[in-house]
Amino acid sequence: MSPLVMKFGGTSVGDASRIEQVGTIVRTNTNGGVLVVVSAMGGVTNMLFDAARTALAGEITRSLEMRDAIRERHYAAARTLGTGLTDSLAAAITAITDELGTYLQGIGLLRELSERSMDTVASIGERLSGILVAHGLGVPCVDARLVMRTDSRFGQARPQPEAIRELAARHFAPLLGAGKILVTQGYIGSDGSGTTTTLGRGGSDYSASLFGAALDAAEIQIWTDVEGVLTCDPRVVPQAHPVEILGYEEAAELAAYGAKVLHPATIKPAVEAGIPVTVRNTMLPEGRYTTIRAGASSGLPVTALAVRKGIAIINLRQETMMDQSGFLTQLFDVFGSRGTSVDLVSTSEVCVSVTVDMAAPLDLLEKDLSALGSVEIARDRAVVALVGERLRQTPAVLATAFTALGDIGVEMISMGANEINLSLVMKSDNSGEALCRLHAAFFEGGRE
Ligand code: ASP
Ligand code: MG
Repeated sequence: MSPLVMKFGGTSVGDASRIEQVGTIVRTNTNGGVLVVVSAMGGVTNMLFDAARTALAGEITRSLEMRDAIRERHYAAARTLGTGLTDSLAAAITAITDELGTYLQGIGLLRELSERSMDTVASIGERLSGILVAHGLGVPCVDARLVMRTDSRFGQARPQPEAIRELAARHFAPLLGAGKILVTQGYIGSDGSGTTTTLGRGGSDYSASLFGAALDAAEIQIWTDVEGVLTCDPRVVPQAHPVEILGYEEAAELAAYGAKVLHPATIKPAVEAGIPVTVRNTMLPEGRYTTIRAGASSGLPVTALAVRKGIAIINLRQETMMDQSGFLTQLFDVFGSRGTSVDLVSTSEVCVSVTVDMAAPLDLLEKDLSALGSVEIARDRAVVALVGERLRQTPAVLATAFTALGDIGVEMISMGANEINLSLVMKSDNSGEALCRLHAAFFEGGRE
């Protein structure tokens, strides 16, 4: 039987009781063996970055105090584990954090912190959680750096799937199989010369997906602190509930809106290998969850709602120039020269509207664009997006959406070329109410 890959994020390994919970979850399904992929304990990666920067500033003593705090957190978690803080575990935690101390002193003395050094420092968090969780579960830990072969782009290393497949067969596979559990770390890897690398912040999901693909896993389970991917941000719409099945494209679209979804690039290796990725809640292991796979869809016209705030609409009006060729080129050249990326575009005969991030140099853009026509900028707008593979097959969506929105004004509409995203631009202040109304209409048995 194919193994399962189960990835546990920082909050899922945040303390001893969470680690015990991980054990319970992992042991429920070991038919084909389980590769457990762990992140650093919550907040530890940030502490490591802080410690390194503190050392860089020459404050070695303070950076070593931060090191001590990291060490103490791992001792404390170990003490409360059923297995306790054994001599060998204490020695392992001490050795790794001593190593960290040496790095911090080096950084502080040389006043130099390259991406390469930072990766080595950052890897400490996963190295510690790996041995801690393995100890808690009473299973072996295989250092991910033996398997996660990457290039040498430190800070954001690119994995090499073929090498990873070979190394996984060598180092992981013999320790997997029925009833067997193995722990490894997410986020960290090594290049061809054996130097430590990382896949970039939040990279553990990517690791899980790459390891899953390399092992032909039956499923990749991402255990986190939410019940899968939700239909909407629950802080805005309390009725939000998990999406049962999410297509890869839909996931990518939602992620682009900053929805709490796995970054699409991180699950690509799994999706390409046809392996389902599920997003599950550590605190509610029997609860609902989301399955993401290529081409899958919820079957509903709208799968989820998302919002992006901090948007400005720039309207450019020019009665005579619009039918001249090259007008849009000139327009986009302005944005290009100001290094501003344009998000949505809509055009009429005499007016072009685009949305940009509020962080863009709006005043300068206004000045430059005035040469092309009359410019109007509307600030503090939000893009409310309806995302769904079946949007294009469901002509009634627009009618339902506008009926639901009622008196909330929509200033710009855009349907993405892939036709799975209908974006509605409105005043930011209205976006919360808009999401509630749309959610009621599409997900709570409201009027269709
Ligand atoms: N520990 C790393 C981070 O915080 C990787 C991860 O959590 O996925 O970025
Ligand atoms: Mg993390």
